Formats: sequence, C-alpha cells, structure tokens
Amino acid sequence: MICREFIELVGAYFDGELDAGAQDEFDAHLACCVACSLYLDSYEKTVELGKAAFRDDPAEEPPEDLVQAILNAKGPRAR
Ligand SMILES: [Zn+2]
Repeated sequence: MICREFIELVGAYFDGELDAGAQDEFDAHLACCVACSLYLDSYEKTVELGKAAFRDDPAEEPPEDLVQAILNAKGPRAR
C-alpha cells in the first residue's frame, strides 16, 4: 500500500468499513510509515473537534478551577 491509498482508506477506517484484507494492509502501512501515522493522529483529532463543535453547548465558560490554575501559574503577583 502507498500513502495515497492509505489516506483514501482513512475515512472508511474510522467508519469501521474496512474489510479484513484492507484492514491488514492499512495496519501494516501504519506500522511502517511515520507520515501516515501522524496523518491518522491529526485526522482523529479533527474528527473529535468536529464532534465537539456539534455538541449542543452554548458558549461554554472555562471551568473556574482552570482559570485559577492559569492565574496561579503566573505567580503570586498576578493575584
Ligand atoms: Zn504512508
């Protein structure tokens, strides 16, 4: 399998639509190709971000403890 074929299968991979043979070739390419491994990572993150964006969540406030942690990280003078 070459990188272009791999990338064409990524969508099917995430949809669980690869047949056993394609899945084997997909895994084999993934194991030996750093570029496609990174591509798969970023694709996965994009999918997650896409799902997060479609959540029915109105303009979400940052959690209070996160705000405090950031303020604390700036040092005592920030308070
Ligand atoms: Zn590749």
